[in-house]
Amino acid sequence: MWHTELRVTTWGQVQMLGAYTCVEGDCNRCYNQAAGYFDFVSGTLLPVLRQKLCKIDAHAMYLEFVRYDGEQLWRCPGCNAAERT
Ligand SMILES: [Zn+2]
Repeated sequence: MWHTELRVTTWGQVQMLGAYTCVEGDCNRCYNQAAGYFDFVSGTLLPVLRQKLCKIDAHAMYLEFVRYDGEQLWRCPGCNAAERT
């Protein structure tokens, strides 16, 4: 993922939001530490339904990797806790 600044328009106000964005062609998926995963479409943030929050400090976790058998490892940016699903 690339780190970039998104131009977000909310009720006519433009704000810059630092986030990591997916480098795949048509993918709108983004991540930042405050919001977790979200989609960025036409200047609007769309929360992602499957969001995982850390059980310890409630930070939005990010997906560190997916194993060949589909097991997912999620990591907390706040306390570095890991969770497998
Ligand atoms: Zn945590």
